[in-house]
Amino acid sequence: MNFIILDLEWNGAYSKRYKRFVNEIIEFGAVKVDGSFKRLGTFEALIKPQIGKKISGKVKDLTSITNEDLDGGLQFLQAMSKFRRWAGDCVIMTWGTSDILTLIENCRYFYGSRRVPFLMRYADLQAYCEKMLGCAAGCDQVGLGTAADALNIDASGFEHHRAVDDSMLELMCFEKLYDASALLPFIQNACTRKFYDRIEFKTAFIKDLSHPLINRKDLSFNCDVCGRPARRMSEWKLQNNSFKAEFFCVRCRHKFYGRVRFKLKYDGVAVKKAILQVNDEDAKRIKADNL
Ligand SMILES: [Zn+2]
Repeated sequence: MNFIILDLEWNGAYSKRYKRFVNEIIEFGAVKVDGSFKRLGTFEALIKPQIGKKISGKVKDLTSITNEDLDGGLQFLQAMSKFRRWAGDCVIMTWGTSDILTLIENCRYFYGSRRVPFLMRYADLQAYCEKMLGCAAGCDQVGLGTAADALNIDASGFEHHRAVDDSMLELMCFEKLYDASALLPFIQNACTRKFYDRIEFKTAFIKDLSHPLINRKDLSFNCDVCGRPARRMSEWKLQNNSFKAEFFCVRCRHKFYGRVRFKLKYDGVAVKKAILQVNDEDAKRIKADNL
């Protein structure tokens, strides 16, 4: 099985057709390896913008790509067919889903269809690396630099935010964490409508406790000392996308906060629960509140 790590750079361009900004791809960078990490080649292409006329100063600073560089670039459709021929049969990987979402957006604009012609199998390399680095579900997304640091990879020789350099660094992280059977569940069949529906689904936090997808059981908490059901002592308060309330265990006289967060995903609701201890100051406040 061959793997391709694909990295894109893009520029926010105003589309008159859509009457909104579109992330227009200005650079493709990729590296291809076989199943034993033998390098099979790299792909680099600058894309001449067609939606936007000029790239923004921010993108210029970030990527050091200039308008003159892009003048000599390929048209998006040319770059796509060149990439498709180069890629062949492989698993495409990107760091997080934003590159793939941008690619879908550009395909929709230029082909009139969201289907990415060369995408047969896809894996989110960032999600895989997070799992292998032991990040718990729901932890903050691990940046490429953080992952490289954690794996003792020296990133100083790489030009960050240039597509091919980023893809090389991503490859090094992948290689250090590679485990064929652990990777398998991350590889998705990208030829189905479901793949596009899922990847384009906008996850959101549920901010209303009467939402029909909330399971009432997730609003109850057991005492973290004795394990028995605790009594809720306050209203639920929404704080940073989480609901928080005070709980009290009648048996141990133990007071704590229960915190729960509901994230609406394509496949359903992801629930994250936590028990927070009440510190002295909070205990005083709770006492005062209840007087
Ligand atoms: Zn208890």
